[in-house]
Amino acid sequence: MKPVLDFQQQYAAIVRKDARYEGVFFTAVRTTGIFCRPTCTARKPKPENVEFFPTAKAAILHGYRACKVCRPLEQAGTIPGYVETLLAELQANPDLKIRDYDLRQRGIEPAQVRRWFKQHHGMTFHAYQRMLRINKAYHQLQRGERVTDVAYDNGYESLSGFQERFKSIFQANPSALAAQNVIHIQRLLTPLGPMYACATDQGVCLLEFTDRRMLETEFADLRKRLQAVILPGTNPHLQQLEKELAAYFAGTLHTFTVALHTPTTPFRQQVWDELLTIPYGTTRSYQEQAGRIGNLRAVRAVASANGQNRVAIVIPCHRVIGSDGSLTGYAGGLPRKQWLLDFEGERSKSEVGSGKWEVAVCKRGKV
Ligand SMILES: [Zn+2]
Repeated sequence: MKPVLDFQQQYAAIVRKDARYEGVFFTAVRTTGIFCRPTCTARKPKPENVEFFPTAKAAILHGYRACKVCRPLEQAGTIPGYVETLLAELQANPDLKIRDYDLRQRGIEPAQVRRWFKQHHGMTFHAYQRMLRINKAYHQLQRGERVTDVAYDNGYESLSGFQERFKSIFQANPSALAAQNVIHIQRLLTPLGPMYACATDQGVCLLEFTDRRMLETEFADLRKRLQAVILPGTNPHLQQLEKELAAYFAGTLHTFTVALHTPTTPFRQQVWDELLTIPYGTTRSYQEQAGRIGNLRAVRAVASANGQNRVAIVIPCHRVIGSDGSLTGYAGGLPRKQWLLDFEGERSKSEVGSGKWEVAVCKRGKV
């Protein structure tokens, strides 16, 4: 893979601990023999002792060992086995309360679990469990169950305790929110860093890198357009997206089939539909995009509508570039755009129609 950035740009990125470069390159330090992610919190090495590699594999082949602080080999995308087991149990039974004592009984160190949840969900394991329970309560209310019943059913000893808890999370009373739609939000890990994924009962409505600017604005827009509340949790669309995204980053999936739910203006919808027709491993210019929707003068409007795309990667706005071949813009950052284009370019060259077969094997192996 050709380097996207020069030395100065990469060094500046590690000084800023810029998460947009996660997975784009790795930093190796000659004096310690260790290599890191760009976001590593360990002390920054002097520029003269640093070299950069496009992949972790390349750093290893040059004799470097993985840093114990940022763990560059624990590729974003893998979940430790003990966490996977905990999540599966909680999904099967949201009422389950797994305490520190229970963790120790299983030989798991509570601090380790807390760290993982803080890092990947921005909250402790116990807060995560409370979130699941309140999520379940929310669904009961939505189905029309009485607030009192729901409060007691979910282990609250008093109605006011339940209402207070609910209000502190949703900024509204239980009865007021029950009439709204639900958008589920889940954090997904990818080789290019963590992403937020959102879906309604109809389909995926958002997939963005967690460091994307204006993310709060997008959430607010979705809430408003769908008359919905955003709740942590999952649904069949998010589960399908997670699988497809993993296959995409494994290079075995070229076309997403997960359902989309992207309420917007007719013009933007037209532009986004057109984006979905750009084949894997190819690019189009903004001009071509404008031509295809039958309005050659709408280049600026097309570029703007591309920028409004909320479902990164799946709606491939990264495949649109300037007519001179320059990358122009990308909400996830230009290094990620270049990475995606290089990745797809190489994959589409090296594969001769074997993609589908590999996905089938991959899925079977996972079950
Ligand atoms: Zn490190």
